[in-house]
Formats: sequence, structure tokens, C-alpha cells
Amino acid sequence: MSSSPVFERRAKVGDAVSPAVFIDRDGTIMEDTDYCSDPKDVRIFPGVVEALRRLKSRGFKVIIITNQSGIGRGLFTLDQYRVVESEVLRQLGDDLVDATYYCPDPPGQKSKSRKPAPGMVVKATEEHHIDLSRSFFIGDKESDVECAHNAGVRAIRVRTRIQRDMTGSNAEWVVDDLPAAVQLILNARS
Ligand SMILES: [Mg+2]
Repeated sequence: MSSSPVFERRAKVGDAVSPAVFIDRDGTIMEDTDYCSDPKDVRIFPGVVEALRRLKSRGFKVIIITNQSGIGRGLFTLDQYRVVESEVLRQLGDDLVDATYYCPDPPGQKSKSRKPAPGMVVKATEEHHIDLSRSFFIGDKESDVECAHNAGVRAIRVRTRIQRDMTGSNAEWVVDDLPAAVQLILNARS
């Protein structure tokens, strides 16, 4: 009796899956300047570059997951968004970010990708061979936490917004900033 093809499939080198840290951009990696459309307004928070480097050195993929409704609202163009994205990646340095996923949809319309919907995480997981059970999501809003949970990932909420009261958050952890979140992840693994 032969087993079904799905059980006969052998793992190949290319099938290896990695853990990832999905990270919100505005308010988590850099200051949230409300619909950032100018590269001059890109200000990365202190300690972020070093923290991302530690994640990479421990085998995590780093994936940015960002709502950019300013595009869908007509506040800035896709080209302007791309200039800002390039500046973010330039300031973070080469090879620290494996991929960036953005959602241009405005709120109030059906969207599979706009956080808290999990679409961007689902797509990234497929395209980058990610093991969600060993992965984390870091963000500054409860919609990041909801997105993480909708995708089946543990969430760390950071207190970098003016609103620092995290009462009622469903995040597994709440910490002060991205470097603290990274420390927590690395402690959890060791
Ligand atoms: Mg944010």
C-alpha cells in the first residue's frame, strides 16, 4: 500500500524555513510623522539598527509590515512612498531588512492586507519560507497586535506612541521600544 504523495515528499535544502520578526514601520522603527511622504522626515529610533543586526545574526528574517493608507487616501503617490521606503532602508543599512510589505488601502473598505487583516504576513510567510510558530510581530498599535494574532504570531507591543497606556492590550508582551522587544525575543530563545 503506498502512502499519499504528500507523505512521500522529502524535504529539500530549499524548503528550510526560518523564524521571522515582522515589524511595523511608523512609530516602531521610526518616528510616526503622520503620512510620511518626504525622505527628510525619516528618523529611525535610537538602537534600532543594532537591534535588527542582532536579530539577523541569530537567524531571524526581518520583515517590515506597514499600512500606508496615505497612498489610498490620495495624500501621496506610490512613487513618493517608494522614495521614503528607500530612505528607510538606506538609514537602516544594507541587508538588515529581508523585505517590506506595504498596504495602500484606506480604512473603511474591504481589505485583506490592511492591518489588522493578516494578508501581508500571510504573503511574506509564503514568499520567504517562514515558520510562524517561531516568529514574532513588533508594533506600536493594537491593530499590529490583532494582525499578528490573525496570522497566528505572538505580538510585542511597544510604548513609543504618545498614548502610552496599554491597558486592555492583547499583546503577549508590552515593552518600551524596539530594542527592548528584540532583547525579549533573544532571551526567549536562549
Ligand atoms: Mg505604527
